[in-house]
Amino acid sequence: MQNVDVLIIGAGAAGLMCAIEAGKRGRTVLVIDHAKKAAEKIRISGGGRCNFTNLHASPANYLSQNPRFAVSALKRYTQHDFIKLVDHYGIGWHEKTLGQLFCDDSAQQIIDMLLDQCNRNGVQLRLETSITSVSKPDDRFTIGTSQGTVRAHSVVVACGGPSIPKMGATGFGYEVAKRFGLQVIEPHAALVPFVFDDVMRERSKHMAGVSVDAVVSYKKTSFREGLLFTHRGLSGPSILQISSYWEEGKDIRVNLLPGTDVFEALKSAKQAQPKQELKTALAGLLPKKLAAHITAEQKLSGRLADTSDKVLRKAALAVNEWTIKPVGTEGYRTAEVTLGGVNTKALSSKTMEATSVAGLYFIGEVVDVTGHLGGYNFQWAWSSGHAAGQFV
Ligand code: FAD
Repeated sequence: MQNVDVLIIGAGAAGLMCAIEAGKRGRTVLVIDHAKKAAEKIRISGGGRCNFTNLHASPANYLSQNPRFAVSALKRYTQHDFIKLVDHYGIGWHEKTLGQLFCDDSAQQIIDMLLDQCNRNGVQLRLETSITSVSKPDDRFTIGTSQGTVRAHSVVVACGGPSIPKMGATGFGYEVAKRFGLQVIEPHAALVPFVFDDVMRERSKHMAGVSVDAVVSYKKTSFREGLLFTHRGLSGPSILQISSYWEEGKDIRVNLLPGTDVFEALKSAKQAQPKQELKTALAGLLPKKLAAHITAEQKLSGRLADTSDKVLRKAALAVNEWTIKPVGTEGYRTAEVTLGGVNTKALSSKTMEATSVAGLYFIGEVVDVTGHLGGYNFQWAWSSGHAAGQFV
């Protein structure tokens, strides 16, 4: 039997950050993970370059049933604090777009930095170890693992959400929460591509690979970023962002040519070049494949001179206000994050500790706090991990 001050379940972004901070305070810390390597999601993140934070990170970039919950942790450990750490390690980085910061070389540098910090602060890391039970028979926790029993004053659940199960992601954190009587908000795949129904997929499969700058909207929420047609439906940053807001069975609206009133543009074209075919005029505004697709779908044909304003408006609507009903999303298989999770009502926003179970903490993605695309999810992992690390 091993005795420690703090046992952390999950050697991901949040768990490692918490371990470092607790280690700095002289706590004995053991981090357990069932994977072969620590922080596999960091390794694959940002296309291998890890979008480790965002210059503009603020509570407004997070979804939660309690939007105020993240405020305190985000304020106490900010993007600038993490950038300072990255700079201290001499890791080169650049802003790609919209405040998104990426490593110049490799995401592995972030992992190496965190593991070095763990090492310097006496954190013990135990990989390829599964947790079989977590209980609190007295004032300490008893944790059964595949490598023996551990007794701990504090348990930190940092095992993320079920997105990308192939990488070892599980919903284990929710089980621990429920086991201790905490409520879990129904989890959903988020930051995930949409899929079309069979008919639409067949009709648009030749569009795979076509990308445009677009504004994608659901109810009052809109994102202007890239949109990509895939073999199964739609992807790209604007689609991933809106997927976190979309509700099954509902439409989304897409403006495929933001900043251009296509009706006015076609009317001007009709005056300037009346002999031009409508499909040629559209192809002057959009990628050729997309213009041809819209022309075929809307059954548009003929010269501009012979086309009524009503038909021009129909063409314009198909570009500026394309309405689609995705049949679903690609689900946890490809989702970057999980929406929902441990209800923040049950946690202290200052310490991340469960208010009803002394010594039990939840941090990172397992909590019902989900960031937009663009480095916000790692920032939540750093901030919430740091917050708990001051108190465990
Ligand atoms: P995780 O990093 O998922 O860590 C959880 C750890 O717990 C894992 O090591 C796992 O093996 C372990 N674990 C799970 N279940 C158990 C169990 N039962 N027993 C023991 N251990 C367990 N966010 C960004 O901000 N920027 C990006 O560039 C970015 N890119 C991404 C790319 C991809 C492909 C994916 C999938 C996600 C990306 N994200 C990105 C999201 C980001 O990776 C997560 O939000 C973040 O990793 C969450 O941190 P976490 O520590 O809470 O969980």
